Amino acid sequence: MKYVVVIPDGMGDKPLKELGGKTPLEAAHTPHMDFFASRGVVGLVSNIPDGFTPGTDIGCMSVFGYDPAVYYTGRGPLEAAQLGIELAKGDLAFRCNLVTIEGDALKDFSADHISTPEAKILIKALGEHLHKHYEGEVQFYPGEGTGYRNLFVYHGNARRMAKVACTPPHDIMGRKYKDYLPKGDGSSFLIKLMEESRKVFLDHPVNQKRVEKGLGPASMIWLWGQGVSPHFPSYYKRFGVRGGVITAVDLLKGIAIHAGLDVIKVPGVTGYFDTNYVGKAEYAINALRSRDFVVVHMESTDEAGHIGDARLKIQAIEDVDRLVLGTLRQGLQEFDAFQIMVLPDHYTCVETRTHSSDAVPFLMYSTRAEKKGPAKFCEKTAAESGMKVAQGHTLMDLFVKGNLG
Ligand SMILES: [Zn+2]
Repeated sequence: MKYVVVIPDGMGDKPLKELGGKTPLEAAHTPHMDFFASRGVVGLVSNIPDGFTPGTDIGCMSVFGYDPAVYYTGRGPLEAAQLGIELAKGDLAFRCNLVTIEGDALKDFSADHISTPEAKILIKALGEHLHKHYEGEVQFYPGEGTGYRNLFVYHGNARRMAKVACTPPHDIMGRKYKDYLPKGDGSSFLIKLMEESRKVFLDHPVNQKRVEKGLGPASMIWLWGQGVSPHFPSYYKRFGVRGGVITAVDLLKGIAIHAGLDVIKVPGVTGYFDTNYVGKAEYAINALRSRDFVVVHMESTDEAGHIGDARLKIQAIEDVDRLVLGTLRQGLQEFDAFQIMVLPDHYTCVETRTHSSDAVPFLMYSTRAEKKGPAKFCEKTAAESGMKVAQGHTLMDLFVKGNLG
């Protein structure tokens, strides 16, 4: 048996007036998803447990079959794994953004999409400056990050610092940044590091050049998403399958590495609308020739939601259906038996341009147990099916055991 899981990130959505009360998935022409749905099982699944923020890290951990309430320690350590950085006991990994401050407002969480070479110079300068004061306590990784997305590791009292309340910078765009600095026991140390970065970055030649070109400067670092190294039981132990993951997103690569799954690289993958959809599906088929299980993740559906464009979201869903599901459907014929599951990690709503915690639609299909499902795969038919999985991390068990209800 071969297992394929397709995750169109953020595909779930609400009915939209401009689509005559339909959701983008409902309005999209998706013959391949509908083929599997009509011969399989559909339902709703809650991937975001109560008390968690509806992010890709949480949603995808549930999809992969790991209970976020048990295994999630933070975004930082997932990204560290992806960079090949091993965390020792007592280490705490933070996401370290480069951000633009204007006046007292956080103007841009990405420092105007600063380039990786520029970020490398700034992070290196900061690391050298801070090493003088905090040698052995702080570690930066110049050149290891991508653009504004960097990593910081604190070697010290991780347990204490893990509880500091940090705020994701993309949630406070345009607001007074000082209101959202780290809070709680241990926060003063982090605030000190962030303040020191302001001094180092102010008038730095990299920033001077950016300002001359009309670009936003990297005013400071912003630390958040911290956590210690998580301990996931391996996929093989948990589900008895060996597999791989195809994605452009660092967080998913981190989950894959912690789960003992292979990160399969595909040329031309961008995490955007121009990604190599067909390549993803072809590499997935190839991966299954030597493995049991593969996850194919697409980010374009989520991007369209964040842009707030219903037509673009429909287009992204149709591209995923035609180019990914279509290619998979054909390629999977070479195997004796296969199962496929399609589901988003969370909603990314066109109307609000952000994620929501709503239960998402899923479909499951098995060549060994064909069923009579709805003609169309969408939020509405999933809700009407009456099948509801309250804990997202339990769905993978049902899928792998072929227990399709
Ligand atoms: Zn997501």
